Amino acid sequence: MAHYDLHCHSTHSDGLLTPSAVVARAAARGVDVLALTDHDEVSGLDEAQAAAADSGIELVSGAELSVSWGDHTLHVVALRIDPDNAELNEGLEAIRVGRASRARRIGDALAAAGINGAFEGAMNYVTSERLVSRTHFARYLVEAGFARETKDVFKRYLTRGNPGYVPHPWATLSEAVGWIHAAGGQAVIAHPGRYKIDSSGMRRLLAEFRDLGGDALEVLSSSHTPAQYIEFATYARAFELRASCGSDWHGPGESWMEFGELPEMPFGVVPVWTGW
Ligand code: AMP
Ligand code: MN
Ligand code: MN
Ligand code: MN
Repeated sequence: MAHYDLHCHSTHSDGLLTPSAVVARAAARGVDVLALTDHDEVSGLDEAQAAAADSGIELVSGAELSVSWGDHTLHVVALRIDPDNAELNEGLEAIRVGRASRARRIGDALAAAGINGAFEGAMNYVTSERLVSRTHFARYLVEAGFARETKDVFKRYLTRGNPGYVPHPWATLSEAVGWIHAAGGQAVIAHPGRYKIDSSGMRRLLAEFRDLGGDALEVLSSSHTPAQYIEFATYARAFELRASCGSDWHGPGESWMEFGELPEMPFGVVPVWTGW
C-alpha cells in the first residue's frame, strides 16, 4: 500500500529544509505521496513539484491555514488546491500580513518581560520574508539560552498564560473552508488532539466544520498518541468526515516523527485520498 504523508513544512514557512530537500528526504524514507503544507503559504509548491517529478514521489499541493475559532487557534490543512487560485491567495496574503504585526507584538511582550532583542533575533531565523512564526522566536530563544529546546520555549514563553503570548485574530473557519474549496481543494482539521478543547467542544467544532462542508480530520499525526488515533478515527466516522494523516515534519531533530514513520490508518475510516 502507498505510504501517504499529507502534512509537512519547508523554509517557505517554519521548516528547516527547502522544498526540494523536503521532497528528497521524504522520498528516501519511503513516502509515496507527500503534501507540502506550509503555514499560510503556497510559494514553495512549484519547487516541490519539480523535485517530486525528479524523485518519483507524488506531490500534493497543500497549505496549513491559521484559523481562530472562539478563543482557540486551529489549523486547517488544505489538500489538492490550485496554488494559483486568486481567492485562496488573497486569503493567505491577509493571514500573512497579520503575522508581521503580531511578531512585533510578541517582541514587545517579551521585552516587557525583560527579554530584549527577541524580534530582531527571531527575524534572523526567518527563511521567507513573507512568513514569520512563533517557531522563529523559539529558535532564537534557545540560541539566547532561555531554554534548551524549542518545546520548552513554547511551554514557558509563547503559549497562553506566558509572557510572550499575544492573542491574534486569524481567518474564520468559514473563510478557510471557503478559500480551500474555491481553490478546488479538501479542508482537513489538523492535529485535533493538540487543541485544548473538551469533548463537547470537539463535537461542536466538528459539527460546525461538517456543516461548512469541511472534508476530513487528521486522525494520524505526530502530535497524537496511539489512543488518540482511535479516538479521532471514531470522531471521523461519527461526523462522516474522511481521515487524513501527516507527520507535521519541520526539520531534522526538530520533529516528533520522521518521514515514513506514520502507522496504517485505523480500520473503518474513509481515507481522504479515496477517489484521488
Ligand atoms: P504560529 O503559527 O506562528 O503560531 O506558530 C505555530 C507553530 O509553532 C506550529 O506550527 C509549530 O511548528 C510550532 N509549535 C507550536 N507549539 C509548539 C510546541 N509546543 N513545541 C514546539 N513547536 C510548537
Ligand atoms: Mn509549524
Ligand atoms: Mn499546525
Ligand atoms: Mn504543521
